[in-house]
Amino acid sequence: MMKLLFLGTSAGESYPALWCHCPNCDYARTHGGRNIRGNSCALVDDDLMLDMSHHAFDSALRFHTDISQIRYLFVTHDHQDHFYPQHLTWRGLPFSQGKPQSIREPFDKAWAVQQMGALQTPVEHLSIYGHASIWDAMKRNERFWSENMEENYHMSFTELQPGEVTHCGQTSVTAVTSQHSKPGSVFNYIIERNGKTLLYALDCGGYDADMIEIIKSKRYDCVVLEGTFGEMPVEWSMHQNLAKNLRMLEFFHNNNLWKNGPRMILSHLAPHWTPPYDLYVQTIAPYGLELAYDGLTVDI
Ligand SMILES: [Zn+2]
Ligand SMILES: [Zn+2]
Repeated sequence: MMKLLFLGTSAGESYPALWCHCPNCDYARTHGGRNIRGNSCALVDDDLMLDMSHHAFDSALRFHTDISQIRYLFVTHDHQDHFYPQHLTWRGLPFSQGKPQSIREPFDKAWAVQQMGALQTPVEHLSIYGHASIWDAMKRNERFWSENMEENYHMSFTELQPGEVTHCGQTSVTAVTSQHSKPGSVFNYIIERNGKTLLYALDCGGYDADMIEIIKSKRYDCVVLEGTFGEMPVEWSMHQNLAKNLRMLEFFHNNNLWKNGPRMILSHLAPHWTPPYDLYVQTIAPYGLELAYDGLTVDI
């Protein structure tokens, strides 16, 4: 079995959107619950994370999950709603190796700075995987020391190539390039663990022919697909609306890609084209599509 916990299911603007009082956003504010979405993040079992948005730790708290001991982080791409490198800086060894500026006497500075950061708790080694732009995003963070990452943060970064398969213990993860943003810089992931296969496809307008061949080479227990633009009547190349979602569902069906029955769950939803959870879940149910929400746990 594989357990998938959704910790964030909104598109970039969050749900309700920052700054917005349209009917969908106000409905979400008024009704709360599943209608409230944070930026994308998901957890496979207790050790493998897919994206780390700035909402990740807050959501984990809301859903009574401790994500401090994750071992593997696969990042889809460097857009800020998917990757927030600041969270990683807090793994750093006590700041005694940095230059504390703002701690005033009468505190003992040397002592005080050692009380910051995470390493009063033993932190598991974290292996981070993604496109080279993820490493660039980490280095752009002024609080991140790229030197001696292993020693200072107990973590490592591995740059992935399109189609590359990574082995994490008994789990294998295949990086599939999706059409979104800078060509070649966004990965969807096929995760195979305990005999189960999941495709996690966020920020995906579609796939080039070589990636479609990789997707067609496997059978799936579950597909998590972005549903960003829902009922928008026009189609974009870098995201999907419901019409595109339905074509994807058809593609999986036509190519006999389901291991058992179809199971497609929509996530990464934008408030101005996907109605609030309470309503949209009813719109898509007749097609056999499921709708993710923050805190949803799925047994795959
Ligand atoms: Zn996004
Ligand atoms: Zn994006």
